[in-house]
Amino acid sequence: MKRRFPKGGYTFPVRKKGPSTSFITSPLPKKVTIPLIAAHGTVMDLTVKKGDAVTAGDIIARNDQALGPAIVASISGVVEHIGEIGYLGRSVTAVTIRSSGTDSVRDIRHISRHQCDVIYISGASACGCDGIPTQYNSSRLSPASVTSIIITAIDSEPFSVLNETLLLENAKQFTEGVNLLHRLFGKVLPVHIVARSGHIKRLGFTGQMKERPWLHVHAGTKKYPHTLSIPLIERAFGRALSDKEDAVSLGCVILNVRDVLAINEAVNHGRPLIEHIFEVTGPGFGRSALAQARIGTPLKHLLPDIALADTGMRWVLNSVMSGTVIDDPAMPVTPLIQSIICIPEKRERELLWFLRPGSNRDSYSGAYLGGFMKGVTKDFNTNMHGEARPCISCGWCEEVCPRQTLMPHQIVRYAEKGLFEEAARFRPFLCIECGLCSYVCPSKLPLLERIRQCKQELQKAETP
Ligand code: SF4
Ligand code: SF4
Repeated sequence: MKRRFPKGGYTFPVRKKGPSTSFITSPLPKKVTIPLIAAHGTVMDLTVKKGDAVTAGDIIARNDQALGPAIVASISGVVEHIGEIGYLGRSVTAVTIRSSGTDSVRDIRHISRHQCDVIYISGASACGCDGIPTQYNSSRLSPASVTSIIITAIDSEPFSVLNETLLLENAKQFTEGVNLLHRLFGKVLPVHIVARSGHIKRLGFTGQMKERPWLHVHAGTKKYPHTLSIPLIERAFGRALSDKEDAVSLGCVILNVRDVLAINEAVNHGRPLIEHIFEVTGPGFGRSALAQARIGTPLKHLLPDIALADTGMRWVLNSVMSGTVIDDPAMPVTPLIQSIICIPEKRERELLWFLRPGSNRDSYSGAYLGGFMKGVTKDFNTNMHGEARPCISCGWCEEVCPRQTLMPHQIVRYAEKGLFEEAARFRPFLCIECGLCSYVCPSKLPLLERIRQCKQELQKAETP
């Protein structure tokens, strides 16, 4: 069943302070602040008011007309405050709950005979790249339009181990969750799992495929960005997608291991989505770990040193390659957090840094001594190395790009002059925003930023 991934992408070398699987678990917080925001940016409507008593698992916000999941209380207590907070660059309503000191959690198992209802009521429809389709408008897909389920059980971001760790530690629950998803969306739908070949063997997936003809397991590698949704679909379908095709147009529900476990917990064990697991990692962090906290817990309770100024560190949300900088240590934990990464800043310029020797340096070109030495741990920093310089037409951005017909330098050449129509000839909508082109560019050109801007301008021009 092994197939090769499409060309392009980059396998990051061994890192200093690389991934480990220790846990940071937050004790029951005295207070949580839960932003009423969904993955699509929809702000949900309040169902509670100040002074109300709530039990963990009670719905505190929903909007069945707008796109998004129900949002549930993550601790039991009293609604102490409702007000606006800044979250991920926008102002959103948030509910602050003060704990009653008890850890009672509502069992939602018997709330409905319909599993889709349970997924919505538990808050678990927030899982997945686009939400879980239910009759409550919780995803851009309706339950009837789902054609396949694709689950990534592999990690390709530098330092990331979340999926693989959860898979190995919860193999039985994962299999239960996969069976549940198959029942949920109709017995004819294929379920695809992309996992490392060693894990496929160790967990007996090949045997499971024989018993379940709807299950398709594909061997994947850690090459970045093959765990993003478009390369995953290409892997599952065995063909390249056009710039008009994506998960929604093809009816694919894209999930990771944590999503499958959360859905299984809700439907089979009656536990609402009150906790969230994410990674805290990167060479600037003393150790790498999986963090587990109630939704709404301020990050600084888990990580007292987070985002402190003047430490020479940059804290990044969700992706080293394409994520945003965290500047608010009080930011609450929500299902929108995949990982928190701490990277040392490296702003000072070094002449021809990308050609300098050094066994511990990383380079896409392999020019560093480290490029030829197997098993040597490598440095990782914010990779700024001074200001942007002119393009030297090295072609690395084109070579590393996972979308093989894309020429990032050509798009950017026109986009930075405001010539968006000309840039459109180079099909910027094929870009999956992985950020690899910016990472490898020796001139430190902000290629991803420019391509995103170009796409926005072209979309604006198309809007009547
Ligand atoms: S052009 Fe887009 S898809 Fe290609 S490397 Fe850059 S960010 Fe990734
Ligand atoms: S990697 Fe940078 S310098 Fe090289 S061709 Fe692309 S934009 Fe130009």
